[in-house]
Amino acid sequence: MADRYFVETPIDGPTARLTGPEAHHLIHVMRAKPGTRAVLFDDTGAEFAASVTRVDRATVELQIEQRTEVDRELSLEIVLAVALPKGDRQRWLIEKATELGLSRIVPLKTERGVAQPVEQAVKRLRRTVIEASKQCGRNRLMQIDTPADWPDFVATTQDVPSRLVAHPNGYHAAPGPLSAASLPRPVLLAIGPEGGFTDEEIAIAVTAGWHTVDLGPRILRVETAALLLSTLVAHAHLGK
Ligand code: SAM
Repeated sequence: MADRYFVETPIDGPTARLTGPEAHHLIHVMRAKPGTRAVLFDDTGAEFAASVTRVDRATVELQIEQRTEVDRELSLEIVLAVALPKGDRQRWLIEKATELGLSRIVPLKTERGVAQPVEQAVKRLRRTVIEASKQCGRNRLMQIDTPADWPDFVATTQDVPSRLVAHPNGYHAAPGPLSAASLPRPVLLAIGPEGGFTDEEIAIAVTAGWHTVDLGPRILRVETAALLLSTLVAHAHLGK
């Protein structure tokens, strides 16, 4: 796949301009000059063949040659609400969730959360989404919401048909909750913090109609549980 660059403003004319880290990469790493070719995407679902027309210290201008709709999204919308782990593991989770095709991440504030998410960190994670999308070919960015308190978030989910919260020994698990037939779209998944959801947090979700899901006898780290549950759900829908 050719080198891909993300353009913040939707491309609707014959030219585009790159600034910030995207321009920096093209200028200083790729040593772009007039005529250098690149592929652009702008979060509208299309990608654009383009060639560089002008380079200065911090911006690159490009001529758009062709616009092509290229859909590399999952066939179902999966939203993952997760009590994010710290540091590198947080970035790793966001990168892999982007690659897997998740639609949206909701960073959760929970009783036992170790890394209560702040808006500044969320901004950095949005950059991780762009980097992962460049690499994996997604033309739509996975959204990262502003952090939400678990009870407040649960209260907004009443109308979502499929809601699964991963909890060891998911005593409320519905029979076959991961079969495609029993999971109308969109699908909302939740993963707790390293210390787990409290009994009260689980009770709030179950009372609101969520199903708990047990992922097996081993206790998984947050990012492992998030990717396992997302993959199981995505797999149940493959080809549908
Ligand atoms: N001691 C905690 C507990 O009992 O909940 C372990 C928390 S685990 C490190 C972090 C999160 O990953 C959990 O809140 C849950 O959402 C998910 N998780 C990890 N292993 C799981 C399993 N075997 N079954 C279901 N969920 C699991």
